[in-house]
Amino acid sequence: MGIALPSLIFSVAECLPRRSRVEETFTETTVTDAKSETGVITEYKPRTIHVLFDDGIVQEFDLDTYVLGVVLGEMPVDFELEALKAQAVVARTYALKRNTTGKKHKDGAVCIDPGCCQAYCSQESFLEQGGTSTSVQKVINAVKSTEGQVLTYQGKLIEATYFSCSGGKTEDAVAVWGTEIPYLQAVDSPGEENADCYWDTVVYSSKDFAARLGLKNTGTPASWFGAVAYTEGEGVDNMVICGKVIKGTTLRTKLGLRSTAFTIKTDGDNIIVTTKGFGHRVGMSQYGADAMAVNGSKYKEIFFHYYPGTTLQMHT
Ligand SMILES: [Zn+2]
Repeated sequence: MGIALPSLIFSVAECLPRRSRVEETFTETTVTDAKSETGVITEYKPRTIHVLFDDGIVQEFDLDTYVLGVVLGEMPVDFELEALKAQAVVARTYALKRNTTGKKHKDGAVCIDPGCCQAYCSQESFLEQGGTSTSVQKVINAVKSTEGQVLTYQGKLIEATYFSCSGGKTEDAVAVWGTEIPYLQAVDSPGEENADCYWDTVVYSSKDFAARLGLKNTGTPASWFGAVAYTEGEGVDNMVICGKVIKGTTLRTKLGLRSTAFTIKTDGDNIIVTTKGFGHRVGMSQYGADAMAVNGSKYKEIFFHYYPGTTLQMHT
């Protein structure tokens, strides 16, 4: 039996450093399926994907033409080939999952907003923006060499969430979306330390900080902060501020933080928040994937690390 996901606050593709992403509410339908005796998924038919563009127009793409555009849009092309291959499988899995559940957009389409579905960059746009044909060929190789491959858990396509940078450890799905998902558990993600998005520091005035959280601005900031509870992924689960217990995910949203893995200190009237990582940190870390590839891991090892207990199957 598959896992029950009555509702899930869901954002997939967080986040390359140059982009801001907003998490959206998503309710998943139950999918009736099972893998066949051959281990091949037979109930998912679409070989084309409907893609919703910013102008509201929906275009139909061949699946792997779309996957190529997602990899070009979502992952730096100078990443290792094995990381790009992992990204291709994850992007394909995500798109087919949306095609079967179809709740985010009409008729199961995926949009090109990386804060909602997945970024997309056509070959033409990539080249116009200064990308090289050599880089395009590298990504084509990543897509072709993984053609038809998808990730499943107990015979069902997984929720293939991914993000830019974990800061050293990924996060449990339940800590972010409140839903336990067996293959979206906190795992170590070493080797990201040199990523631009690893650390970030934001300084708030006490007035701004209090306004963002709806707090009564009284006393010196040094006295505002109380007990902190942490998640399995070393994020802030909740924190007492001015006597109120506030969830880490709420703090991230209201303060505009890169992640829930943060520490707070005060300096006079200023409140200084330092974050590690970038994104919801659930699923595959893109910088972590590249670090694994640099250290010799193949693409299957990468996604089996970030989605433990899943299976690689052919989608037909
Ligand atoms: Zn979308």
